[in-house]
Amino acid sequence: MRHFVVVGSGPAGFYTAEALGKAYGEAARIDILDRYPVPYGLIRFGVAPDHQSLKAVSKRYDKVAESAGVDFIGNVCIGRDVSAGELLELYDAVILAIGAPHDRKLGIPGEDLPGVIGSAAFVGWYNGHPDFADLGPPLGGTHAAVIGNGNVALDVARILSKTAHEFEGSDIVGHALEALDNSAIKTITILGRRGPHQIAMTPKELGELGHLDATSPVVEAKDFPPLEADDALEPGQRKSVTILREFAARAPDPAKPKHMVFDFFAKPLSIDGDGKVERIVVERTELDETGAARGTGERYEVPASLVVSCIGYSTPPVEGVAYDERGGKFLNDSGKITDRLYAVGWARRGPTGTIGTNRPDGYEVADRIASEMPPGSSGDRGGAKGLKLLLESRGVMPTDYDDWRKIEETEVGRARPGSPREKFVRHEEWLETLGR
Ligand SMILES: Cc1cc2nc3c(=O)[nH]c(=O)nc-3n(C[C@H](O)[C@H](O)[C@H](O)COP(=O)(O)OP(=O)(O)OC[C@H]3O[C@@H](n4cnc5c(N)ncnc54)[C@H](O)[C@@H]3O)c2cc1C
Repeated sequence: MRHFVVVGSGPAGFYTAEALGKAYGEAARIDILDRYPVPYGLIRFGVAPDHQSLKAVSKRYDKVAESAGVDFIGNVCIGRDVSAGELLELYDAVILAIGAPHDRKLGIPGEDLPGVIGSAAFVGWYNGHPDFADLGPPLGGTHAAVIGNGNVALDVARILSKTAHEFEGSDIVGHALEALDNSAIKTITILGRRGPHQIAMTPKELGELGHLDATSPVVEAKDFPPLEADDALEPGQRKSVTILREFAARAPDPAKPKHMVFDFFAKPLSIDGDGKVERIVVERTELDETGAARGTGERYEVPASLVVSCIGYSTPPVEGVAYDERGGKFLNDSGKITDRLYAVGWARRGPTGTIGTNRPDGYEVADRIASEMPPGSSGDRGGAKGLKLLLESRGVMPTDYDDWRKIEETEVGRARPGSPREKFVRHEEWLETLGR
């Protein structure tokens, strides 16, 4: 019998466990560890609450967790409760799937002013992440700015734009719904350093902006290259750019009080304000011959009492594990970090790709493990038994899949009408539900 441990229960962790299960059948036991008693990583804490159909992918992960050779072990944090070295002593292979939960810094003056928030924190706040329950983003001003030109920036801008009615059917947490319903924000400016051809926004997410109840997208026709230039774009990107062109051709709907303004060729230089954010100083850019943004020297100010930066994430280093500082992920060669130690998902590749991208990624690493380690005996490695003894000696109380089910049932039972669940937003609430 082989013993494997996958650390992290997001998409990458689950696809890897699924693939290991297929590769080894009854010849392996697979433990999926997570720092929280609730699984699924960014499916729960990242993917937008008004995109419920995407969150349904967790049903597939449920099947993996319920399969015979797999156990979910929650409430255990690598680096705090157990080290990578200790897991390597207990298991044949350790697969790190801890994602990239830290916001990348903007690296400009003023980014630490109150009211400047990273997207991990802001998104975590409206999705019930326990670390951000008390974030209290300032929503009392009329202007907000979102920095970045990817889908996370779009999620944040859309959530700031929607009416309470538009959150029906979502699992946005009650505290965020109430705060957003009372928000005074009327203008949300999305700042991108380059132009419409360089966005990393997908057509479905952009298309939604044309159907918001109270918000008009505002795009400037002058920001586009000539129409023929779109022919060179890959089809998905061309679709996105076409949607932006349609927005540019439309006047804002006078019946809609809010505006989502796409400010292209805009590089934030600094964030200013008296004790809290009041404005962003921006430099107009143009594309140089390599396609990079080059400052033109023209400066202007964008008012904002809330700034959300959506410029990417990094994986935190784990003691004893090789780390790529520049890439903000574990140093690895096609998923292999060192003998018997692997990385998958965002911890392997960095924060790019969709949920589905993590599937081939996890399968590739599982295949590699299977080819390097044929079915056989773990020798005296203790697997889950040994881990539980170690955790017990440290006073750490792991949770299991049945505990998660209990939390989920309680959340579903607390749901407001029209919502699939009302999530708990604090770690203690999870543990109280379990009688701990
Ligand atoms: C805001 C946002 C919105 C997104 N929306 C979409 C979308 O609409 N569609 C789409 O296809 N993709 C979307 N994505 C991308 C998608 O979420 C990722 O591709 C995917 O979640 C990455 O999977 P992962 O398993 O590598 O990381 P994660 O999902 O982050 O999972 C990591 C897991 O590791 C656990 N963990 C972290 N540290 C430790 C530790 N020290 N010890 C133990 N466990 C730990 C975490 O609790 C978590 O469960 C979105 C991403 C973000 C940030």
